Parts: sequence; C-alpha cells; structure tokens
Amino acid sequence: MDVRQQYYKGAQADQIAAALDSQRLQLNERLSEIDRYSDSDVLNLRGSFGIAPDATTEQVGAARDIIRARLVSELQINAKTTVYDFVPGSQNDSKLSDETWASTAAYVHPGDTSHTIYVGPQFFNLDSVDQTMVMSHEMSHFEGTGPRNPRAGAGIAGTGTIDGEFDDRGRTLMTEHDTARRDPITHELLRTKDLSVIMEHVEEPVRYYGDQYSAMPPKLSLYHADTFAYYVGGYQNHYAEAFPNGH
Ligand SMILES: [Zn+2]
Repeated sequence: MDVRQQYYKGAQADQIAAALDSQRLQLNERLSEIDRYSDSDVLNLRGSFGIAPDATTEQVGAARDIIRARLVSELQINAKTTVYDFVPGSQNDSKLSDETWASTAAYVHPGDTSHTIYVGPQFFNLDSVDQTMVMSHEMSHFEGTGPRNPRAGAGIAGTGTIDGEFDDRGRTLMTEHDTARRDPITHELLRTKDLSVIMEHVEEPVRYYGDQYSAMPPKLSLYHADTFAYYVGGYQNHYAEAFPNGH
C-alpha cells in the first residue's frame, strides 16, 4: 500500500500517466536505435548532439556511451515513477525568480534519491508532447543518470544533466542580456534562427532543436537536459539535415 499522498487525481493523473507511457515508448525507441547503430542512427546521434563531421569513431562512440547510459537510467526511473511521485512545487523551494517560476512546468532536486518531480504552474497547460518532454528533461537531472559532467562543481556528484545557456566555448551560464553584451555573434545567431548563418559563424558545430537554435558544442550538449529531452522526443531527424553527405 502506498502511504504517500496523491496530489493529482482525475484528468491530471491521467495526463501524468500518459506522459510517462509516451516517455517509456520514446526511451525504448531511442535505445533500439542506439543499439542498432545503423548509418542513419549514427547520423541522428551526431546531429542531435552537434558532433562534428570530423569527429573520430572513438569520439562518436564515447558520446554514444554517455547517451545510452542516460537512456537506460531514465528507463529505470520511469519504471518506478507513478502519480505519487508528483508533488506540487513552490517558488520558495525552487529558488526561481518570479518570472522564471511563472513559466516553470516542473523541477527536481538532482540529489533526491526518491526521484520526486515537483510540478510548477505550467505543467498542466502543456500539450501531451511537451509534458512527455518534461519527463525526459527532469529525470535526466537526477544524479546517477550518466557520467560526471566535466563542468560539474566540487562537492556534488554531477552525474545528472544541467540547464542553462552557454556561450560557444561553454564558459558561462548567461542570460539573453549577458549574451548580447559578451558575445554579440552568438546572440545574433540565437536571434536570427538561420541555420546557414550559424554554420557559417560558429567554429564548433551546433545543433538545432524545436524552434530554438543554440551554439552548444558536444562537451555541453551531451550533458544538457534540453538536448537530451529533444533527442528522446524524436526531434533528431531535424538536426541530421545540418550534416549532409553522411557525416
Ligand atoms: Zn532543467
């Protein structure tokens, strides 16, 4: 018997269950692809995480290992997650600004071994596709879902994914304002959303997801919650176009 409180019932519980089901299907699809590792699967992996056309087989293999580990780990978390693991979040607990909190769908505490997902003001306003992506995004933050992030700070395990925007050398978490000030080229790329412009100006390869472009090299994208969630969500076919001719 589950003694925890069930905060979400009826239609909301149904939405959570449906998103968990979709997420499981997607994770299994990606795992099948990454194990099959056909030419198009390799292309999808490279495109999704911005892996350079001239990357070595070893480098692509290392990326594959990182993503495979996270897929397996998320499947294990997904299998244990039920509606009882969803709890109303709060701005105070999340430590987010007013503006960010208002647009928050969910958040987690990465070190939380109970794998509780805290629900924000926007989760039930999202469609089922985005709710599913939120599951993949949030679960990837939990410690133990991958190898240690090379950028992780001291004193934390740092084996979950990170959030945020970084400059094209992966140096700094930046707001849009900071981006414009410190790195006008990247800012312009993010603003124009023109892939040809991005490919022309950014030295390290970039990846495209959803309706956003971002200049994020693999050393970041392999450890980033958004990149992983978009990959799981099946957006990888879009990115593959960025690397034509089988790269
Ligand atoms: Zn996140």
